[in-house]
Amino acid sequence: MFPALTDAQIARLSAFGEQRRVEAHEIVFDQGDASRGVFVVLDGSIEVLNVAKGHEGALRVLRRGEFTGEVNQLSGRRSLVRCRASEASNLLEIARADLRHVMQNDAELGEVLLRAFMLRRVFLIAHSVGDAVLIGSNHSADTLRLQSFLARNGHPHTYLDVERDPDVQIMLDEFQITLADIPVLICRNDLVLRNPTNAEAAACFGLNAGIDEGGVYDLIVIGAGPSGLAAAVYGASEGLNVLVVESTAPGGQAGSSSRIENYLGFPNGISGQDLARRAFVQAEKFGANIAVARSARRLKCGRPPYTVDLDDGGAVQGRSIIVAAGAQYRKLDLPNLTHFEGAGVYYGATSVEAEMCSGQTVAVVGGGNAAGQAAVFLSSVAKRVYLLVRGPGLVDTMSRYLISRIEACSEITQKTWTQIQKLEGGAYLERIQWRNSRTGLEETEDVQHLFIMTGADPNTSWLGECLALDDKQFIKTGTDLGTEWPLPRPPYLLETSLPGVFAVGDVRAGSLKRVAAAVGEGSMAVQFVHKILAG
Ligand SMILES: Cc1cc2nc3c(=O)[nH]c(=O)nc-3n(C[C@H](O)[C@H](O)[C@H](O)COP(=O)(O)OP(=O)(O)OC[C@H]3O[C@@H](n4cnc5c(N)ncnc54)[C@H](O)[C@@H]3O)c2cc1C
Repeated sequence: MFPALTDAQIARLSAFGEQRRVEAHEIVFDQGDASRGVFVVLDGSIEVLNVAKGHEGALRVLRRGEFTGEVNQLSGRRSLVRCRASEASNLLEIARADLRHVMQNDAELGEVLLRAFMLRRVFLIAHSVGDAVLIGSNHSADTLRLQSFLARNGHPHTYLDVERDPDVQIMLDEFQITLADIPVLICRNDLVLRNPTNAEAAACFGLNAGIDEGGVYDLIVIGAGPSGLAAAVYGASEGLNVLVVESTAPGGQAGSSSRIENYLGFPNGISGQDLARRAFVQAEKFGANIAVARSARRLKCGRPPYTVDLDDGGAVQGRSIIVAAGAQYRKLDLPNLTHFEGAGVYYGATSVEAEMCSGQTVAVVGGGNAAGQAAVFLSSVAKRVYLLVRGPGLVDTMSRYLISRIEACSEITQKTWTQIQKLEGGAYLERIQWRNSRTGLEETEDVQHLFIMTGADPNTSWLGECLALDDKQFIKTGTDLGTEWPLPRPPYLLETSLPGVFAVGDVRAGSLKRVAAAVGEGSMAVQFVHKILAG
């Protein structure tokens, strides 16, 4: 996390920085500052401090050759820590734009800096260092929403549970919060947000700081799942001015996967959040702008540059568009389903949800790989996992390696021909009744957590009539368009019925619903974007 640069490396960096003298105890930058660069210590020493509830905690003293910074430096987001000179010191300050230039053009320095930045972010998350405290309850859907939002955006936070944590009352009294206000997000140590929306949380933590919305982008990507992040990495690394608009957080459906084992290059598997975090940093390193907690609400189908209206009333313009909006889970047709969403019913199985299932009974609905992965993952923490499948078994719908693991796991009970009839409970889920469609047998089991993984529908309702869709509302592209293509030239692969607008990944008709396929399509589409931009 704290490598010291060699004299030769410092000399190379000096061409991009400015020397700055700081006196003993001077604040170099503070928690919450957004516009600072990276500081390399030339002589003397500076301290990195965690600031929580008004108190400082020492994290590290940096000396000759050591440098400040973590992944926030790339995106221009606010600093999570304070930095103060321990003694009179000389520093080399490198501004954010120059830092990006160095990282892209000096492979050796780029690697040292990026590795340190990423390890430091992992440390900050693991030790809850930063400017966010979430007070909530494990039985509240909005608490889960905010927890997931912060976790999936890689924003470190301290979580205090009103039912379990003795420190909570102190915090509640300190900020005059009543139990009725829960969940509450304390932002930058003093702002109290009562049950904020994701957009309000993002604004308070400055997650979209540093993004320029004026002007016309070369490329706007809608969605930051694997396909959108791939498009951002390839576009930005090839010199395009790229904006990505994401409704919640980078990662998409893959971000809700506990372990992806069939993505090339990761023989031990990788969690969806980890993959997303790496891709996000990679895109930022190359200069892509990624706006989170903002949704595309409408695509105007006039002539280029195209305008995308956003849900907060803003609008952005792009000379080309890649729609990478993916798909979202289907829900079960049960009358009180929404009552239990986030309070026992979930659509993704990550470490956030798993923590709640420890020692309890869990049911997973679905026969595909997502359901299989969730069942295997949850069996490591839950007392029992019921895997409920509507059909005769898993052979036709699930990968063989997952079926073998399920069969070998004594905590998983498979129930075929089974459909849920009823959910029961008070504030949160307590029991489920299901029925075997072959035998008619009805059973009721004490189940505290239900994971629904029964396929997905495309996120295309915001497109209106702009693009040609198939009968299941997936976007048609390339030769599938037939007479719906308007120009004399043939459409490029992945191009939609609106020239210069492409569709990639799960949202595209005929796509393979896999991470690798989504990444491949996102990368490929950028080649055709170059052709569009070249006129
Ligand atoms: C639990 C689970 C496990 C899985 N495991 C595997 C696996 O092991 N291996 C594998 O190959 N595949 C796996 N998959 C499938 C894989 O995750 C998907 O194929 C892949 O994520 C598709 O990527 P995408 O970028 O096309 O879409 P998505 O991942 O769906 O991402 C779309 C993004 O667009 C955003 N968005 C939607 N609408 C808008 C809008 N209007 N404005 C702005 N943003 C918007 C969404 O918030 C989302 O972040 C799994 C899926 C799930 C759900």
